[in-house]
Amino acid sequence: MDSPIVVAGGGAAGRAAVQTLLTLTDQPIVHLAGPSGEAIDRTLVDKALMTGRVSPDRAVAMRPPLDGVDTRFDTLASVAEVPAGSDTTVAEVPVGSISDAAVVAGTGEAPAGPDTAACPGRGSSRLALTLGSGGVLGAAGLIVATGSTPRRLDVPGLEEWVRAERISTLHSVTDALRIRELLEEVDGARVLVSGTGLVGAEAASLLTEAGHHVTLVARSAVPGAAGLGATIAGRLATIHEGAVETRWGTWVVALREGVAALSDGSEVEADLVVVAHGAEPHIPGGLLRDETPDDRARPDGSRGDGSSPDEGRSDASRPSRGGGSARGAGHGSAADAGVPVDDRLRSAGWENVLAAGAVARFGPQPYRVDHWDDAEAQGAHAARTLLHDLGDGDDPGPYRPWSPWSARIHGRQLAGFGHPLPGSTERIVSEDPLLVEFISAADGADTVCAVVGLDAGRALRDHARTIGPHAP
Ligand SMILES: Cc1cc2nc3c(=O)[nH]c(=O)nc-3n(C[C@H](O)[C@H](O)[C@H](O)COP(=O)(O)OP(=O)(O)OC[C@H]3O[C@@H](n4cnc5c(N)ncnc54)[C@H](O)[C@@H]3O)c2cc1C
Repeated sequence: MDSPIVVAGGGAAGRAAVQTLLTLTDQPIVHLAGPSGEAIDRTLVDKALMTGRVSPDRAVAMRPPLDGVDTRFDTLASVAEVPAGSDTTVAEVPVGSISDAAVVAGTGEAPAGPDTAACPGRGSSRLALTLGSGGVLGAAGLIVATGSTPRRLDVPGLEEWVRAERISTLHSVTDALRIRELLEEVDGARVLVSGTGLVGAEAASLLTEAGHHVTLVARSAVPGAAGLGATIAGRLATIHEGAVETRWGTWVVALREGVAALSDGSEVEADLVVVAHGAEPHIPGGLLRDETPDDRARPDGSRGDGSSPDEGRSDASRPSRGGGSARGAGHGSAADAGVPVDDRLRSAGWENVLAAGAVARFGPQPYRVDHWDDAEAQGAHAARTLLHDLGDGDDPGPYRPWSPWSARIHGRQLAGFGHPLPGSTERIVSEDPLLVEFISAADGADTVCAVVGLDAGRALRDHARTIGPHAP
């Protein structure tokens, strides 16, 4: 039996990769969909789960396992290569029996063990994948679509707030339910939202609509400028100022009894702190190659070690720089560490290993894109590249982000297409409606790589056609 193609990640990129493979190949596919309760549409976390419009069970039911695929609610812990040319095979071993002998050289035998399972990867596996449950799976190819984990806050007094469940990130089902439960107990709660990326901005808007009193805190004087450009970010800041209490150019330095202390010496009374400091890629172990330890360092000092995704964590206690990066933007800093990919989404230093979605990092001036539609497009593209590399399809060509994204903030529609590439410059296309384009020389000539608009509707869609050379 052929070795399977394995897709790790049950979110936007992973599912799109599996769907594309299903339509293009009859090779066996294993989908490691992550923890079962988290294989959901993540965009529902704030808009539907936190607000109570959709239950977690419903969110899971909306994305059932795909027919024709071996779906496992398990994680990819680490990846290793089976040496080329050796007579080495990889067996799938049962949970709990993983050992160094899981990769068996020469013999073609599965490792010893009472219940060793039949080996789907026997004979043609080039990759040995260690699963979170403890088994090892052989694979002919791998698409890593493991998404990201939220950055957290590390300030004096945090532990007390964690114990009282009065602080949370906003990324997982658990986060959404924690926030919802706390707010159900308090009418007109005082909520401090730290970070004004798209998740922080949406949270401030949704919580205000729900009757809570929001204070929005951002380290930057013009929050969101790094991802949205100064013009749109400036307009958005004004919109926030008209809708919630804002504190720009400052950040939370300590949490005390009922109060968050800010770096400018002021204090904000709060029943709940929502930490929306952006997210960093969740990188299974062994994937990063050809990089110095500095390249691998994360802003919070954590490692890309493939530990199981911390969707169920009940706090916001891992360190964070306290910034407010936008959901889908930001580039050029350690915060953008991820699995480095080439223009076809092949993972650097590997054969037949690709990465897609929030975990993938494009170079040479690194950037990641963290929007839903773009993650789906990357997943589909990675699937096509992998099939091509396995001799089972055409080269899909280079990937460029041009997908749409949107966010509703205090009743206004912020939307865009594409991604402002590193080094791109912004140009105002129209003041009313506000429409801005970003021009990049990345493809050798000046081309529009992104357009962003505020309540720009059709004008935005029309102008998005100028995004080249991969315009929608
Ligand atoms: C609160 C919130 C609201 C958002 N709203 C919007 C929006 O309105 N519009 C928009 O465009 N974008 C939005 N985004 C961003 C969007 O959700 C992400 O860009 C998108 O989900 C990224 O897709 P992904 O597949 O890379 O990661 P995800 O969709 O996060 O999927 C990653 C999956 O991998 C699983 N996983 C993690 N580790 C492993 C492992 N080791 N092995 C196997 N599986 C693993 C996870 O459990 C998860 O199922 C929002 C994000 C958040 C947090």
